[in-house]
Amino acid sequence: MMRKDEVLDPSPRDDERELDEQIRPHRLGDFPGQDPIKERLRISIAAVKARGEPLDHILMCGPPGLGKTTLARILAHEMGVDIKSTAGPVVERQADLSAILTSLEEFDILFIDEIHRLNHAVEETMYSAMEDFEVDIMLGKGPTARSMKIGLKPFTLIGATTRAGLLTPPLRARFGDTCRFEFYAPEELQIIVARSARVLDVPIDPSGALEIASRSRGTARVANRLLRRVRDFAQVKGDGTITREIAKGALQVLGIDALGLDDMDKLIIHTLIDKFSGGPVGLSSLAVAVGEEAQTIEEVHEPYLIQIGFVKRTSKGRVATLHAYKHFGLNPPADSQGALF
Ligand code: ADP
Repeated sequence: MMRKDEVLDPSPRDDERELDEQIRPHRLGDFPGQDPIKERLRISIAAVKARGEPLDHILMCGPPGLGKTTLARILAHEMGVDIKSTAGPVVERQADLSAILTSLEEFDILFIDEIHRLNHAVEETMYSAMEDFEVDIMLGKGPTARSMKIGLKPFTLIGATTRAGLLTPPLRARFGDTCRFEFYAPEELQIIVARSARVLDVPIDPSGALEIASRSRGTARVANRLLRRVRDFAQVKGDGTITREIAKGALQVLGIDALGLDDMDKLIIHTLIDKFSGGPVGLSSLAVAVGEEAQTIEEVHEPYLIQIGFVKRTSKGRVATLHAYKHFGLNPPADSQGALF
């Protein structure tokens, strides 16, 4: 059985890929939320189609599970082009990248997930590909090796990253558009849950969808995963329909609280408050204290804790907010009240 913290993990799981494919929307109109991004992209699509050009290179940033991959595929669909997908750590050599680039047809999209993890040599190859649609190919080996420029068909690079801060300035500068994904509001996730339920042929009440949406930590992937877990519960404990009561019961059994906080989120807050008097504390000390990798805290847990106003990042380190003390029924230290938010 899936552990509670796995249910709320916004990263993709191998056994979900097939279902993911089934419920992924294919058109911009079926993709709820991220309105400012969609609005800009709609205009770009119409403009480049009218001019007969490829889309500008796009950088998509934001925490996992918010729809970066989905939106990249939608763009390909809306543009009527193919999309090839890979990931930063997978493209190990310049030759790997050249092989992918030379296989692209006119206006195709190349999607590179975790683009901040491209190695330096590969990244440099990317510069001329993005700017001039050219790559240098090495012919031969050793002292007789020489490089030859090869022209590429105009294409669009879509880079996705959870850590935009790690992108080098030269790479960042070559993207024409940056889309910053935001956590979804419960009402947006409610629409996503209702739509996924329709695709999966699961009857659901609007209030049942909202109950799942409210506990999904603002993340579409978590909402879809919770929907599947609640569906099982509805079949066994009810008549198959997901009502608010069924959703509540199922989420209680899964140990997911009203805000969708998992055990690690709670541990982070309690550690900040109990061991570090509410902070400020540096990320690495916090990571050691809770026994989790600093990167996971920064990429998976912290964005949501900051979003709901439980943690604040200050120049001196992480601080627990008054809101966090209140949620857990704890008393903030009298002498630091003025420093809390
Ligand atoms: P990311 O690339 O940001 O990690 P994905 O695009 O893989 O996220 O999305 C994760 C899951 O959530 C997929 O199953 C996808 O269908 C679903 N999803 C994400 N955003 C939306 C959305 N706005 N509407 C409907 N489903 C979404």
